[in-house]
Amino acid sequence: MDKTLIIFKPDCIKKQLLGTVLSRFEAAGFSVAGCKMMQLESELLRKHYSHIADQPFFPQIESFMASEPVVVMILEGKGVIEKVRLLLGPTDSTKAPAGTIRGDYGETVMINVVHASDSLESAEAEIKRFFCESDFIK
Ligand code: ADP
Repeated sequence: MDKTLIIFKPDCIKKQLLGTVLSRFEAAGFSVAGCKMMQLESELLRKHYSHIADQPFFPQIESFMASEPVVVMILEGKGVIEKVRLLLGPTDSTKAPAGTIRGDYGETVMINVVHASDSLESAEAEIKRFFCESDFIK
């Protein structure tokens, strides 16, 4: 079964939108295959965001992502990687259409509710990065 890595970002947790957002994923037919709460640290964030770690705005992302514990989750289902990205909408919440998760609940390009893997390769790498042998995973 296809799997993807989801992070419910600090803004999502702060606004108590976890259930609302998860219900959209479940309504689309996807199920939870792993879940835990984490305080993200600099080293993990630098790995996770290595593709943008040299950008001038990276320190802001780092402090935003570490501002509050997040919920990390593995979602599974047929076509979950592509479908979840469609449910999220584009990165920039101000450009995301109404009806998408970022369009409905996001604030800015940075404060955008949820991370989701963007390809099979990233999903596999990210699941390994955020979950370990001792975590319960379906
Ligand atoms: P996505 O999360 O949609 O895959 P990226 O991988 O490009 O997008 O960026 C990772 C995260 O970094 C975004 O979700 C967002 O929180 C933040 N980000 C991206 N671009 C910017 C930017 N120009 N300014 C501030 N934050 C940004």
